[in-house]
Amino acid sequence: MRMRDIAVELESRAAVAREVATASPVPDIGAAAAAHAYEDGAALVLANASDRPSGRNAAKATCGCRNIRVFPSVLEQGPIVCGVCGEDFE
Ligand SMILES: [Zn+2]
Repeated sequence: MRMRDIAVELESRAAVAREVATASPVPDIGAAAAAHAYEDGAALVLANASDRPSGRNAAKATCGCRNIRVFPSVLEQGPIVCGVCGEDFE
């Protein structure tokens, strides 16, 4: 399941919980809290999804012994030094 699909699922659950909360003749604190929790969860998932390097955006960087994937903008901020062989990833 993709991160964005999870966020959409959480948002739809938030909408359902909010409907239950407003449809209730007495204030439904449990449903309102659930709606809040789902909304927070969806926001968190979206924040993480946009920060996560995808295979498409991240570039390959190599040192003397390993390969990593890193955003080009991160590499531009300064050298990333390998703790094993002591060489820069580039
Ligand atoms: Zn290395």
